[in-house]
Amino acid sequence: MEARCSYCDCIIQVPSDAVEGELVKCMDCGTLYEVRICNGGSVTLTEAEEVEEDWGE
Ligand SMILES: [Zn+2]
Repeated sequence: MEARCSYCDCIIQVPSDAVEGELVKCMDCGTLYEVRICNGGSVTLTEAEEVEEDWGE
């Protein structure tokens, strides 16, 4: 499956066995995306925040 990077407009390859919440990275600009599986099996990407060890505060 393929999705498009919203920043650099390049194609991001998404594994066909990708699961909800899986992280994929744009190889071109390095933006990290989280996989969302829609009804019907199509895939969309939402920009993911870098995971930070920030509990509370
Ligand atoms: Zn990109």
